[in-house]
Amino acid sequence: MVEWRWDQGRVLYFQYDVLREIAKVLVKFDGKNINDDSVNKDLRTALENNVGLPFAPSNYKVNRNYSRVFQCAMLARHDGRSLFVSDICRQIATGVESVSCDEYFREIVQRFRFPFPAFQEYNTTDENIFPFCAIIKMLIAKYQLGEEPRLDLEMICRFIIGNNCTGLEDIDFYKTLKPTGYIATSDSMRQLREMVAFISQLSFIKVFNHSIYLDILDDSEIAYIKNAYLKPITTQRLSDPFEEFRQITHLVKISRSGPNDDVKRGNTLIINPSDIEFTEGKKSRVQHLKIERSPLLRKYYVSLHPEPICSACEEHMNMKYPWAGYMLDLHHLLPLASMIKISIMGTSLDDIVGLCPSCHRAIHSYYRKWLKSNNREDFNDKKEAMAVYIEAVKEIS
Ligand SMILES: [Zn+2]
Ligand SMILES: [Zn+2]
Repeated sequence: MVEWRWDQGRVLYFQYDVLREIAKVLVKFDGKNINDDSVNKDLRTALENNVGLPFAPSNYKVNRNYSRVFQCAMLARHDGRSLFVSDICRQIATGVESVSCDEYFREIVQRFRFPFPAFQEYNTTDENIFPFCAIIKMLIAKYQLGEEPRLDLEMICRFIIGNNCTGLEDIDFYKTLKPTGYIATSDSMRQLREMVAFISQLSFIKVFNHSIYLDILDDSEIAYIKNAYLKPITTQRLSDPFEEFRQITHLVKISRSGPNDDVKRGNTLIINPSDIEFTEGKKSRVQHLKIERSPLLRKYYVSLHPEPICSACEEHMNMKYPWAGYMLDLHHLLPLASMIKISIMGTSLDDIVGLCPSCHRAIHSYYRKWLKSNNREDFNDKKEAMAVYIEAVKEIS
């Protein structure tokens, strides 16, 4: 049985927003000898300045301590002398309108396989295992069986790892799986937990309380996911781990979705004309809507905020419309291109507020005006997005 491995203790560095910033720095060091003390120092300084996270401790080489982040995220690998930067790294470094979070993960899900060259156990004899494909297939199998599409870490061990699933099987195979007695060591369990948090940045996956869920708007999404995400890229493994990394991350171009593909996916994403106006076919804005329409996020938000009070006009929806149920939209406060944040506990609700439909619409239209008059596609950072949100709320009240 192949042990599933990952990095540990670096969930924040695996956040797509952060990976993009890391990628922007790494491309500048492509081919450089980062083992050289002064180059390594420059690399650390550039990373810390760009990413806003420490790359400690300073007595270790950055590439030694963060090698698994760089490799598991498929950005770069160091061959002992020079840094090799992957095609994937180059493309995500160019910005969100060219490669969205979902498009990046589409590559990771179909390329990441065990044995993986970042780990000591790398070999060319064990069978290929595509762990992310296996997890997503199992979630779809449960959904199609009419069960709650949820897996906790123990279930992943007992059903998927214990049965030696490879991620190459079809979904019907996952419907027949029986639990085994396999439980990973506590060390592997922690790594598995971070793998699961990492993958929960996909728009159709969420993690709450250490369980991973399939989060879809309707059945039509299943066909889309199967087609776009679940075709593992199999190539003959190469005996040199460095060459293997190069092979796995090699691509001509990240397969892009057309600007409206994601809008079409799940017809319910666009629910009124102002959504069309707001998104205007822009990926970053579609991503914003996808987060806000997540059925699971809504369920968790409601459980934490049982009173439907609008965060902008402070109207209590149940007082105003006692017959209408929980009449709040979710609104995501980060820049439009940002995906929902993850933490060690999973998907975070920190940047989500509840708004009545009128205020939500008014705020999106305020955003549009603001971005247009500042000649911008998106807010620069969380601080700016928050400032504009607060400005809009002031206008409302
Ligand atoms: Zn309101
Ligand atoms: Zn919104």
